[in-house]
Amino acid sequence: MSSNHLPTRWYNIMADLPELPAPGLHPVTHKPLTPDDLAALFPMECIMQEVSADRYIDIPEEVREIYSLWRPTPLRRARRLEKMLDTPAKIFYKYEGISPVGSHKPNTAVPQAYYNKLEGVKQITTETGAGQWGSALAMAGAFLDINVKVYMVKVSYNLKPGRRLIMQSFGATCTPSPSTETASGRAILDQDPDSPGSLGIAISEAVEVAMGDPKVKYSLGSVLNHVLIHQSVIGEEAIEQMQDAGVYPDVVIGCIGGGSNFGGVAFPFLGKAIRENRNTRFVAIEPSACPKVTKGKYTYDYGDTAGLTPMLKMHTLGHSFVPPAIHAGGLRYHGMAPLVSLGKELGLVEARAYPQLECFDAALTFLHAEGIIAAPETSHAIRGAIDEALDAKEKGEERVILFNFSGHGFLDLTSYQAYLAGELQDYDYPAEMVEKALQEVPAV
Ligand SMILES: *Cc1c(COP(=O)(O)O)cnc(C)c1O
Repeated sequence: MSSNHLPTRWYNIMADLPELPAPGLHPVTHKPLTPDDLAALFPMECIMQEVSADRYIDIPEEVREIYSLWRPTPLRRARRLEKMLDTPAKIFYKYEGISPVGSHKPNTAVPQAYYNKLEGVKQITTETGAGQWGSALAMAGAFLDINVKVYMVKVSYNLKPGRRLIMQSFGATCTPSPSTETASGRAILDQDPDSPGSLGIAISEAVEVAMGDPKVKYSLGSVLNHVLIHQSVIGEEAIEQMQDAGVYPDVVIGCIGGGSNFGGVAFPFLGKAIRENRNTRFVAIEPSACPKVTKGKYTYDYGDTAGLTPMLKMHTLGHSFVPPAIHAGGLRYHGMAPLVSLGKELGLVEARAYPQLECFDAALTFLHAEGIIAAPETSHAIRGAIDEALDAKEKGEERVILFNFSGHGFLDLTSYQAYLAGELQDYDYPAEMVEKALQEVPAV
């Protein structure tokens, strides 16, 4: 695949959906957000992309140049997996694990850092759980000469040194959260000095620091419309690569944490399905321990635990919901990208939930067939793809399956250690906790 296959434009699904997502609301006034409300947090280019109805948005040349370090990513056919499953289906996957930090996350980290640099921003703050997002932004900051400050959930900071050390090697500052550096962190520590932290608390710390200094902005690695636009580079490449292979997908699959890699691979195909009246199916896979789309409510909710962020209309389990400690840390988020949620509500996107043991089992099948060890998040997409292939076998269909392989698991080997030792468990759907958390979602 030569580099002239690297797209020159991102795709924006907002141009083709039959309706636009509901506007974000100000966290205090509950009025629709204005660009000015967001200017303290994000560069103006990202804010404009957030509400853009343009079908295509040019990828800046400097961003393309950095993308070309690992893009286009390979589209591979999993022939040995097909054989192992004895299925007539054709299984293709887009291998995003080939990026320098091992996941799809740099696809948006690089343009976000670039747009911040254009505005003269000196520092970006963000949060990270297991460190995939933090290490992607740390790389982008190193390339584009911007200071990156990451609040990392304290349990992960202590238990998962690998990605923390990658961030620090890139020159980023990585602080265990909750910290004494912010009022939000101190408030938590006053109540519970031993707090293990959470993504919601870390977001509050990063947002607080950005709001307090005009030279500092905040960056989010998923959920928002502009993030899904940047990730469309995955699907735009896949359209061309599948065409080169002489096939077109019947079903497109991705795992969903905040919805960005799924939106990235699926939306360019969804746009074609809408414009060209095609019957492609789009399947989003979530963990049954954190089933926001299959079991959550479609309503306005906050993006963080403290309620400092704007409210978004999305599928949510409630912003105060703390998901069980499944190993797919990147899927442990209470909400869903408004664009993916809207797609589900409009009947354009299907969602399915799987418990983690079945997903690790699928990841091992894939490992034995294709040789790549998947991130625990990615194992959910693999489970979905294998089930589609088995369903096609039962029905004798030559189904063409495309799934996004969002990241490799080289830094998640302790999860496999626990799985192989039989120490992992499935969690029941935490119905009572969800019910309680949903009661705390304000009606607007
Ligand atoms: C962060 C992450 C995810 C989940 O995030 P989305 O925004 O839903 O894509 C999935 N896979 C990997 C490897 C990740 O790092």
